[in-house]
Amino acid sequence: MNKKTIRDVALKGKRVLLRVDFNVPIENGVITDDTRVQASLPTLKVCLEQGAALILMSHLGRPKGKGYEAEFSLKPVADHLAKALGRPVQFAPDCLQAGAQVAALQPGAVLMLENTRFYKEEEGSVKKADDMSDEDYAKKKADMKEKQKAMAQKLAAYGDVYVNDAFGSAHRAHASTAVICKFMKLNVAGLLMEKEIDYLGRAVEAPQKPFVAIIGGAKVSGKLEVLQNLMKKVDTILIGGGMAYTFLKAQGHEIGKSLVENELLQTAKDTLAAATKAGVRILLPVDNVIADAFDANANTQVVGNEIPTAWMALDIGPETVTRYAAEIARAKTVVWNGPMGCFEMEKFAAGTTGVCKAIADSGALSIIGGGDSVAAVNQSGLADKMTHISTGGGASLEFLEGKALPGVVALNDK
Ligand code: AMP
Repeated sequence: MNKKTIRDVALKGKRVLLRVDFNVPIENGVITDDTRVQASLPTLKVCLEQGAALILMSHLGRPKGKGYEAEFSLKPVADHLAKALGRPVQFAPDCLQAGAQVAALQPGAVLMLENTRFYKEEEGSVKKADDMSDEDYAKKKADMKEKQKAMAQKLAAYGDVYVNDAFGSAHRAHASTAVICKFMKLNVAGLLMEKEIDYLGRAVEAPQKPFVAIIGGAKVSGKLEVLQNLMKKVDTILIGGGMAYTFLKAQGHEIGKSLVENELLQTAKDTLAAATKAGVRILLPVDNVIADAFDANANTQVVGNEIPTAWMALDIGPETVTRYAAEIARAKTVVWNGPMGCFEMEKFAAGTTGVCKAIADSGALSIIGGGDSVAAVNQSGLADKMTHISTGGGASLEFLEGKALPGVVALNDK
């Protein structure tokens, strides 16, 4: 990575303003998966060992941007972090009113700010009302940009050094993830950010061949750009999940009640043609697990690519798993984004689990991105067999699409 990291700057006695991604799932005040907290610990520890005081910023969920909402409070995360870190974590209940607490921080102290998204300026987006003229909308957007800068400037005043370790939010140009860098002299990456960019970069920039991409998930529309970008780099693309059925329909198959995006049939055809032209093999399912309802207890059967009218395909079939596994076994680099079926329901999980096992057995450099594929890997107990599991679903997807991530672009070059 060509960006400075915490290893390139002196942190002793400094106030480090650290953007983390603590957007963790919480049920009834209890964190149900603390992967993102754990993943941030190396950066926190290095900063503290170097004698810095830490001011942590994060968002959590999607509050309305109109102030405090208990369900989106980061207080339970601050308490959880204190246990994980083994030292006290102070809490500032309003991220923009923490000046006195920040001023009192001693080296080695940790202060967590409340959810930055309690302020709408964090995201800085505005909606166009139906009756709003283009001119008024442009003015409203410009006003919001100014307010966003003002928020970023207030946050920037807390720290001497800005560290961005929030890979999961790096694809957003928000006040605390990118705009803030305009107001800080030193903007560097944390260790998690560095690791994410290094692994993803290694996969897409200088991959060992054969390079196989496995792309699944619900819709073609969500994965079109990633398909188009990966096509320039990979040897083979294995397609599964709901998106496979738009491709199969485009090829003239009967897909019954399976998920389809009819408006993308031509795009699907064009994508297949472009792949042939580029010498990239795109593999589609040859058999499918179909169901008579979208239900965990539905009746199921395995059929080829002609799906009866009243049925829907909810997973790739066993023959497809065998074929995909053979491709994965030959691969030296594997990127996987999106499940092969409705893996949340046991009857439709075999395709995703099969792919997961094949990656684990392959010995290839494997990069897993996207919330659902990561959940599937964790569910299968094979997480430690993967080279890198990304903490950022959307961010890893945008990286694989070849897009620059604003949170990374804004950091100081080496
Ligand atoms: P995405 O967010 O686009 O990666 O999509 C993930 C979701 O796609 C998961 O919740 C899966 O249950 C769903 N999914 C995967 N395969 C299918 C399918 N064949 N039909 C409908 N939904 C699917």
